[in-house]
Amino acid sequence: MRIVIVGGGSAGWMCAAGLARLLPATDYDITLIESDEIGTVGVGEATLPHIKTFNDMLGIDEAEFLRETQGTFKLGIEFVGWDRAGDRYIHPFGAFGEPWVGVDFQHHWVRAAQAGFDPGPIQDYSFAVAAARADAFEFPDGDRNSIRSTYAYAYHFDAGLYAAFLRRWATARGVRRIEGQVIDVGHNAISGHVETLRLKSGATLAGDIFVDCSGFRSLLLGGVMGVAWQDWSEWLPCDRALAVPCRRTTALTPYTRATAQRAGWTWRIPLQHRVGNGYVFSSRYCDEVQARETLLAAIEGEPLAEPRLLRFAAGRRALAWERNCIGIGLASGFLEPLESTSIFLIQAAVIDLASLMPTPGFGNRMDPRLIAEFNRLFEIQYDRVRDFLVLHYAANSREGEPLWDHVRAMRLPDSLTHKIELFEASAAAPDYAYGLFSRDSWLSVLFGQGLRPRAYNRLADHLPLEELERRMRDLRSRIAANAGLMTAQEDFIAGYCPASPPAPPMESAA
Ligand code: FAD
Repeated sequence: MRIVIVGGGSAGWMCAAGLARLLPATDYDITLIESDEIGTVGVGEATLPHIKTFNDMLGIDEAEFLRETQGTFKLGIEFVGWDRAGDRYIHPFGAFGEPWVGVDFQHHWVRAAQAGFDPGPIQDYSFAVAAARADAFEFPDGDRNSIRSTYAYAYHFDAGLYAAFLRRWATARGVRRIEGQVIDVGHNAISGHVETLRLKSGATLAGDIFVDCSGFRSLLLGGVMGVAWQDWSEWLPCDRALAVPCRRTTALTPYTRATAQRAGWTWRIPLQHRVGNGYVFSSRYCDEVQARETLLAAIEGEPLAEPRLLRFAAGRRALAWERNCIGIGLASGFLEPLESTSIFLIQAAVIDLASLMPTPGFGNRMDPRLIAEFNRLFEIQYDRVRDFLVLHYAANSREGEPLWDHVRAMRLPDSLTHKIELFEASAAAPDYAYGLFSRDSWLSVLFGQGLRPRAYNRLADHLPLEELERRMRDLRSRIAANAGLMTAQEDFIAGYCPASPPAPPMESAA
């Protein structure tokens, strides 16, 4: 079966590498077309811990990967000023506290707060938060009883270097690469399936399955198949980003920072050789000149290039798989990088596609059940991430700022309203077996944005109050003491994967 991937950004090369690893080469022939003339979006540096599973699946050596991509470790995301100016919390890649008497930790924390002894911020009960605040990094402990085992980690890396890394990996394992520009598509007159792609060079390429990784253009899924766009800008009004790298002048923080601004938010992503920065903003509330000023005022060191503007809209295609075309990456949807979810969504789609890949021998007749299942999973992934992002905006107290007043008052998706109300009524938070986000992620943002439950799971009352107070005190000091023993991320990286000489500035913008 011939699989043709259109596009060689992160989506295209993650797809090529993932499928080459997971599908038998005897049955599937993979070709990727990319156009140097068009180029890639060139941003996308912050990830979630799942990327490690993806790299491990490919058998990639972690130290080599970090060296090649100027990568750093990431324990979470710090949100500054999202509830009100000046406040800050971390969404950690790890657990809050320990479950006692079979009850999740947040119920004990709420009970303690309601019982009148001050448990301190719930953030103090996350080891990942404490390590991040100490600018430290070490690998999680393998001993599940250790407080140092209660976190995971992700990476910051140069997205252009990662795509190049995967390109080398995939082409060494049989993926054929064609440099060229697709200018036309040949259809089957009866089924409407794509059969051939015509390139600018005049060459024609035939295939059975076409994966659209053409970025915002959505050449096949949106363009040829005409799959409708579901617009989510009513909930996520930011539609522009300015990106600029700068020199690093401070410690190598093991977290991404997202700082709320009047018309959106700025990001800070520390790599080994530079810091990636950007301002995601709404053109309804700010023009490009003001956005540029805000961004340049927010960065810590000398800019290494002129800020670059990107335009986008929040939303997704109604379907990701139509006939024999599957959209992955920006071709299938876009959600702003507030929680570093796009690369995860690519990874999830690649794994789901490999799992549901039609068996060779059926020509290009597609089983509608495989298509329906892929689309069901795609919807779940996108819709849940959307709710999570919208929560950051909606639960704010930044009164008097037009963007923030608007998002505080907007009508929320019903699915999100339900989650907020459930949390307020019971301290419960969603926890999904498939997809994003885990319970602790929800808790970090719900508490971080200033929401407080009225009640907690009464099974927590089985722990005598004095015992609860003792355990909480002990846990909090164990976390602080252990985090204090961790190695500074700078030193850890210097020992584990010292950088190769920096690439010339602006090979990839952010
Ligand atoms: P692209 O990188 O645009 O690649 C498209 C490919 O298609 C290119 O190779 C192009 O040459 C090719 N192509 C297009 N048309 C044709 C044609 N006609 N013929 C042949 N080839 C063609 N994600 C994260 O996970 N973390 C982040 O921190 C993050 N930050 C972001 C910040 C911003 C401002 C934006 C806009 C996105 C961010 N993302 C982030 C998302 C991330 O950048 C993308 O999900 C990721 O790079 C995948 O892009 P892509 O491969 O789908 O598209």
